[in-house]
Amino acid sequence: MPAVTVREALIARDRIKHLVRETRMELSPSLSDFMKVPVYLKLECHQATGSFKLRGATNAIAGLTSQQRALGVVTASTGNHGRALSYAAAAAGVRATVCLSRLVPSNKVAAIRALGAAVQVVGNSQDDAQFEAARLAQEEGLTFIPPFDHQDVIAGQATLGLEIAEQLPSVSQVLIPLSGGGLFSGVSLALKALLPQVKTHGVSMRLGAAMAQSLEAGKPVNVEEVATLADSLGGGIGLRNQYTFELTRRFIDRVILLNEDSIADAMLHAYLEERLVIEGAGAVGIAALLTRQVEAQGPIVIVVSGGNVDMAQHQRIILEAVRDRRPARA
Ligand SMILES: *Cc1c(COP(=O)(O)O)cnc(C)c1O
Repeated sequence: MPAVTVREALIARDRIKHLVRETRMELSPSLSDFMKVPVYLKLECHQATGSFKLRGATNAIAGLTSQQRALGVVTASTGNHGRALSYAAAAAGVRATVCLSRLVPSNKVAAIRALGAAVQVVGNSQDDAQFEAARLAQEEGLTFIPPFDHQDVIAGQATLGLEIAEQLPSVSQVLIPLSGGGLFSGVSLALKALLPQVKTHGVSMRLGAAMAQSLEAGKPVNVEEVATLADSLGGGIGLRNQYTFELTRRFIDRVILLNEDSIADAMLHAYLEERLVIEGAGAVGIAALLTRQVEAQGPIVIVVSGGNVDMAQHQRIILEAVRDRRPARA
């Protein structure tokens, strides 16, 4: 029996519904035309705080004891988890501290500060930020809520799988952005419990894909973190990973890896064809289709995991992708 099951997902759904939106699932005419099977976008870019991370963070806050609530929580985050945890903590009247590395874009840092959390910018990698968060947990008695390797966080992300199963019971394949694997584990375990035939594929950038390399090695391995357009997919899975490595290994059908140009092209596609402004991590499922790495077996659901891109950066990416005149994907 896995560490988290659909039962925990159902409990989580009830615990987070006051704060978390049920997001829309929309047919993409242009991607359906491209694939010749129906393709849907699950729009977590329209979730409150701009990403699915609010699901897991809200469920983790709901799971605190009253003593833990009183002392507060701490985390390390590439941005979206920190932002979501700050939002969920503020809504529950819990103090939050967020440790971030210098790679995190300034728009995300500002958004977290604006939610009232204490922000610590430390080091050059997600691992450095995590080390500082662990120190604060130890020394100040704060409860550490990691971005993915935590049962309540995984159960919260699993509520997204419940929604997909309800919104599109005929779904055949789901493309899920993959970093630490909390999103992938949660969505897959819920979906496959309800719809056993569904295939779930994990999608990452080729640069620094920690889970992909760990799956290949058969155990969690360290991977050097490098800058990528999919900044929310950066960081390791933890050499002492407790839950997400095993869950991902159990549920994953395929790993799909992408180069940076294809991520930019997918952001351009989202902008021109779907009228969506999304971050690189949120675009990888679209990129997997556009690079023809997915079988034409539908319906296909793409989890558009987040929209928190710096607007100036987005504009640069779009202009460059247009200028380079990579083939139009309409
Ligand atoms: C965190 C994040 C992911 C990856 O989630 P994991 O649980 O770490 O695999 C994907 N997309 C966005 C927008 C994220 O913020």
